[in-house]
Amino acid sequence: MAYRAEYIWIDGTEPVPLIRSKTKILDDGATPGIWGFDGSSTNQAPGSNSDCVLSPVFTCPDPIRGGNDVLVLNEVLLPETMEPHPTNTRAACAAVAEKYASFEPWFGMEQEYTFFKEGRPLGWPNEGYYYPAPQGPYYCGVGAVEIAGRDIVEAHTTACLEAGLAISGTNAEVMLGQWEYQIGPAGTIEVGDHMWMARYLLYRIAEDFGVNASISAKPIKGDWNGAGCHTNFSTKQMREGYDAIIAACEAIGAEGKVEEHLAGYGHGYEDRLTGLHETAHFSEFRYGVSDRGASIRIPWQVAQDQKGYIEDRRPNANCDPYVVARLITETVCSAAS
Ligand code: ADP
Ligand code: MN
Ligand code: MN
Ligand code: MN
Repeated sequence: MAYRAEYIWIDGTEPVPLIRSKTKILDDGATPGIWGFDGSSTNQAPGSNSDCVLSPVFTCPDPIRGGNDVLVLNEVLLPETMEPHPTNTRAACAAVAEKYASFEPWFGMEQEYTFFKEGRPLGWPNEGYYYPAPQGPYYCGVGAVEIAGRDIVEAHTTACLEAGLAISGTNAEVMLGQWEYQIGPAGTIEVGDHMWMARYLLYRIAEDFGVNASISAKPIKGDWNGAGCHTNFSTKQMREGYDAIIAACEAIGAEGKVEEHLAGYGHGYEDRLTGLHETAHFSEFRYGVSDRGASIRIPWQVAQDQKGYIEDRRPNANCDPYVVARLITETVCSAAS
């Protein structure tokens, strides 16, 4: 019987791209190949020359449709040359991944996000003072007062597992209606593929609940936590010794690198990296053991074991994981070469 392939790609919307998808019916036994779309509707091409190419890079079972149906993540190419489209950040990431493969980089990315319904975060009151009680009881909370949207989170986690994604955990976050899932450990290119696929599943499943899942970095101004994408990273050397841990922190904090990384860590990082709410101010760089107010945290256990990984706390929830993984791999591995 014919089956369905959901072709997924990242568009050209600014400042934060959106995920797009459409369905292709394939004959039994056929594999998903090159396809195209109207780039003039996604800010990826002018109307006079609108065709863009979808080139499959990662396929997994479709846990929403089930059966033989699949999800197909694509990179976008230019039709004339079949070169990467300017919005294609995966190609450069893949090149860096290949260049530094011998370092065996591993990533774990903590995707925070916020559910919205009827114009406000899920679970927030629509009367009185319109704000819930201040932050405190919500992080990893249990109970109807502390939690909003757990049914969606559970459905999303099940879907990620059925799709074979490298999801490693979930938790409720500090702001009511805010959640997190983690993808990893996974390699430089794999973490990006799985992160984008997990985002697709999140939006798609929340859609069925009539809820919008937002990766806005500072969805509510004021005394409410922003949403980040803490990025945990190690190389083989870092997993074997502490000198490589310190060298990685120093490489990322080197002159010029701080600004270069921040520019690739997601739109509006200035609003989130204020120095409050478990962040370091974007204008400073510091690393420290157990320090959740630092740019890079060395987990307590890592200092104890004298090996392991580091956590770059600066990437925004709305970052492009291909860009973040490329920057960290390139900076740390080139300095250790
Ligand atoms: P936090 O304590 O900051 O909330 P989490 O448990 O949410 O941390 O996320 C930690 C992430 O780090 C997980 O995705 C995990 O897979 C990943 N991780 C664990 N060990 C390593 C390692 N050696 N290299 C890279 N990532 C790792
Ligand atoms: Mn976490
Ligand atoms: Mn978190
Ligand atoms: Mn973290």
